[in-house]
Amino acid sequence: MPEAMKLAHERVELKLRCPLVFSRGAQDGAVVLRVAISWRGVTGYGEAAPQEDEGQTLEAAEAFLDELAAQLGSDPFALEEIDARMRAHEGDLPAKAAVDAALHDLTGKLLDQPTWRILGLRANGPPTSLTLPIDTPDAMAARGREDVGRLPELAVLKLKLGAGDGHDLDRVQAVAEATGLPLTVDANEGWTADEAFDLIPRLVQLGVRIVEQPLPRTSEDAVALKRRSPLPVFVDEECYTLQDVAPVADRAHGINIKLVKCGGIREAVRMIHAARALGLGVMLGCMVESGLGIAAAAQISSLVDGADLDANLLLVEDPSPGVAFVGGVQVAGSRPGLGMAA
Ligand code: MG
Repeated sequence: MPEAMKLAHERVELKLRCPLVFSRGAQDGAVVLRVAISWRGVTGYGEAAPQEDEGQTLEAAEAFLDELAAQLGSDPFALEEIDARMRAHEGDLPAKAAVDAALHDLTGKLLDQPTWRILGLRANGPPTSLTLPIDTPDAMAARGREDVGRLPELAVLKLKLGAGDGHDLDRVQAVAEATGLPLTVDANEGWTADEAFDLIPRLVQLGVRIVEQPLPRTSEDAVALKRRSPLPVFVDEECYTLQDVAPVADRAHGINIKLVKCGGIREAVRMIHAARALGLGVMLGCMVESGLGIAAAAQISSLVDGADLDANLLLVEDPSPGVAFVGGVQVAGSRPGLGMAA
């Protein structure tokens, strides 16, 4: 009888160096699930980061994983079949992403090759931005300066905006002056259409390259904003999986894909190709995750235009180092699978 794959999971607590304040809330860390899938004495790992504000709980993710454990089968290379089986069940995308990552790690280890190489890709993608949480303009400038001191190779900073206090432009100005780095901004749905039309043209002179999710996900003004914005507008909160890509094509210049949102590497690659067919730009982002979550995303970062894969760099301590921060880029490892240290 063929050997069935075995799945196990455990909770891991992640603590952020400083609270991540954004337009809709704040978090000072996260509890994630480290998923292990074993077969023939080899184990692959992936990470699930359920998002409370999306109604996702650790308990639901654990229940999904326990149920799936009995149906994984005995062929870790049947990646599309397992993916399709998981997708027949709605929701629990972070848990699906963890299984997908663990299977890619496992197959890479079985073949003794890094996942990016098996996929025909490269270990390097674009430089990652590092996120500055919402604070006063002076405090954000100070934090930006501190981050550049801590990570001298940093090439891009991303400012959380949408504070609703009329000082977002001051924040960008203060950080631009303090760091001199190219910037991206993310309002997390926090701007009105009037604010977006007013602010975006003024951000151009301050070195801003991309504006992420300026408007609420259902805003009727997004089509007009795409037409008039002098900066590329990328959507995040309104684009989760493959089926969301075509509907945003007239609302944005690009999409922010996250493995936690879409359910893993395989769906992310499908989304990237769909986006390209529609003339959209692609960036790859993350939630609060360890180096294990970032390592999974880094496998496909050579396919995208922009990276926001900073979560492990924001932690007090990374329990699963898996990527190297080199020249401002989160580089995937050359070890087999996702490239984590054994
Ligand atoms: Mg975002």
